[in-house]
Amino acid sequence: MTPMQESDHAAEAAPARSRPPRRPALPPVDKHFRPLRKRVHLACFLGFVILPFTNLMRVDIPRQRFFFAGFELWINEFGILFFATMLLMFLVAAMAIVYGRIYCSYACPQMIFSEASQAVERWVRGRLRKLFPKWPGGSRETAAKVVFYAILLLASVFLAFVFTAYFVDPKDLASRLLRLDVVSAGGITGASVTLLTFLDFAFVRQKFCTTVCPYGYIQGMLQDPHTLLVVYQDPDQACIECKKCVTVCEMGIDIRKGPYQIECVHCGDCIDACEDVLRKVGHEGLIRYAYGEHGGQASKAREPLLQRLGFRDGKRFAILLVLLFYVSGLGAALSMRRPVLVQIAPDRSVLFENLPDGRIGNRIRIKLANRSSKPVTVRLWTEGLPGAELDLPANPVSLDPGAVFDRTVLLKVRPWSGAEEVNPLRILAQTSSQAQPEVEALNFILPAKGSSP
Ligand code: SF4
Ligand code: SF4
Repeated sequence: MTPMQESDHAAEAAPARSRPPRRPALPPVDKHFRPLRKRVHLACFLGFVILPFTNLMRVDIPRQRFFFAGFELWINEFGILFFATMLLMFLVAAMAIVYGRIYCSYACPQMIFSEASQAVERWVRGRLRKLFPKWPGGSRETAAKVVFYAILLLASVFLAFVFTAYFVDPKDLASRLLRLDVVSAGGITGASVTLLTFLDFAFVRQKFCTTVCPYGYIQGMLQDPHTLLVVYQDPDQACIECKKCVTVCEMGIDIRKGPYQIECVHCGDCIDACEDVLRKVGHEGLIRYAYGEHGGQASKAREPLLQRLGFRDGKRFAILLVLLFYVSGLGAALSMRRPVLVQIAPDRSVLFENLPDGRIGNRIRIKLANRSSKPVTVRLWTEGLPGAELDLPANPVSLDPGAVFDRTVLLKVRPWSGAEEVNPLRILAQTSSQAQPEVEALNFILPAKGSSP
């Protein structure tokens, strides 16, 4: 029998209760989870809106750029993208293992906007009831629906705009929106996302969490005996069957049937409701956050801080170490990143060339890429070869933001006395935006002594 079935069984098999004794009221709890959750929702909403417009996090698909923490990364910057992707994926898994569905109820945009749309719908109904108390109920309901859908349509345009700005330059997107462009790829994407957003928050809402979203199912696989849960326990038989915990639950479940119900997003609304009801009759609430079905009360146990934060076994510390590894890897990759990429390598398809003016040429592949947002120049020169000349069209090379210089050029030298067949040299590249030049060591090949030209 699974834990969920056990809990269902226990709830169904519970004998009829006698009403618990009424006691002097207890003072109300000093904190509720719902206001905390709403504050986190607001912070997440502001983050959602701000991130793409400040380039703190955005993937520019048309330009193949990834913006992260203010860095404009190229899609081929493997190290940074690898660590960023792994960190994100591992963070989601780690959150599921330690804190269960907390992400769903506190930070998931689907939940935030579903609850917001329900709140707006309730508010519209309430306003119309107050403004037009004499209207027949049916007419008022129709009017409420029309007003709510109009508000939701405007909100959907805004949300779709912000969402699409994560993938398309916001300025470009704004001009498409003002032109009401619904024919180009960007315009079609924006219009489709608007329509989906409207339908989602008008009709689907939290149903998405228990049907389409895979996170709840993945969470079920990742959780272990120490994962944070919302648990109902009634050692004093104090439940007064008021069903307040059921009516407040936006997911439409009864937490008393067990803590492993897939619909439960661990929002804590039922905890608040039960505390409010039972404290008035002198009992503490029967529902709580706990690490594991039989674990201590997460918010009240007098345990060391790390335990209260969920670090209750070696596995959690291993998770923390892996997270630290990815954070350090990402930090190191970002700190080593150069805004101007310089790659210099010999092209050995031909070892050397005899030039008409008597000099010898070696082919060198030079790739310069300006990954910054400002124009730069790159000056190149050699050290170690007397009279060497790089056959560049211009030196320094000018690069606009995003520009790439990728060419095979000749490095020309007149043979000198004492030259060997293989002569070490260095090519230096001084970028206008960097203090130190980049140095590449390679060899210049001359014809073997005694060989005919
Ligand atoms: S809110 Fe508390 S007292 Fe009321 S039904 Fe739920 S568990 Fe029982
Ligand atoms: S059972 Fe409680 S914690 Fe779970 S979703 Fe419903 S209100 Fe939130």
